[in-house]
Amino acid sequence: MSAPEVTDLVIAGSGAAGFAAAITARRAGLDVLLLEKQPELGGTTARSGTRIWIPNNRLMRDRGLVDGSRRTSTRCSRRSTTTASRRSTS
Ligand SMILES: Cc1cc2nc3c(=O)[nH]c(=O)nc-3n(C[C@H](O)[C@H](O)[C@H](O)COP(=O)(O)OP(=O)(O)OC[C@H]3O[C@@H](n4cnc5c(N)ncnc54)[C@H](O)[C@@H]3O)c2cc1C
Repeated sequence: MSAPEVTDLVIAGSGAAGFAAAITARRAGLDVLLLEKQPELGGTTARSGTRIWIPNNRLMRDRGLVDGSRRTSTRCSRRSTTTASRRSTS
């Protein structure tokens, strides 16, 4: 497939971020060129579990499940710290 020489927006990567940007831009009326370096589309997104963690959401509360703000912030900071530590030691 040949790519157009002129376009409004070029996006590198066909994962969730790239596709979200492409769909949003297209809906806004822009011509979009989405580039993918791998032979298949989807990137890491295509392998992900596709679960979205929404802490303390209404459906959980309706079922009596507690996922309060203290537990949420502890989880987030623990993960952030782990990520930051890995970066600083590598
Ligand atoms: C096993 C697994 C399970 C997961 N489960 C979950 C989950 O349940 N819930 C959740 O929220 N997250 C999950 N994640 C994390 C989530 O999948 C990623 O955070 C998300 O997919 C990242 O999306 P992205 O668009 O930023 O990157 P990607 O999906 O990786 O897309 C990036 C794309 O850009 C392409 N690219 C890179 N460089 C170039 C270039 N120079 N030119 C053209 N293309 C390029 C890559 O080939 C790739 O296709 C999981 C991840 C893994 C590995």
